[in-house]
Amino acid sequence: MIPQEVAVAPRATAAARGYGHHHRTATARLLAHLARYPGQLCPFCDRPMFAEPHLNPDGRKPHGDHGVPQALGGTQTSRLAHASCNTSAGAKLGNRLRRRRRELDALGRGRASRVW
Ligand SMILES: [Zn+2]
Repeated sequence: MIPQEVAVAPRATAAARGYGHHHRTATARLLAHLARYPGQLCPFCDRPMFAEPHLNPDGRKPHGDHGVPQALGGTQTSRLAHASCNTSAGAKLGNRLRRRRRELDALGRGRASRVW
């Protein structure tokens, strides 16, 4: 019996996924600023953020956030957000984009299914 090959797409590098050097240094800079000026408001829930994980509602260190979502072409880490708020926002946007693609596919459009 011939073993069936399993195609596994290689995971993109951290930089390719938008979490490379720029993301890490920008997040570190934003966290240092937050440590100096605690209580800045999370852009998603409007509750204060703190550099110390235990002071945040989710008990985690804030995440560097792409102000313009990566899924919409954003590349710059421009602000902080609670880790849970940031993850949740990314998941919600991903779900909306997938739903929209399915709707377009159902209509026979989208995904370059036709050359205009
Ligand atoms: Zn939040």
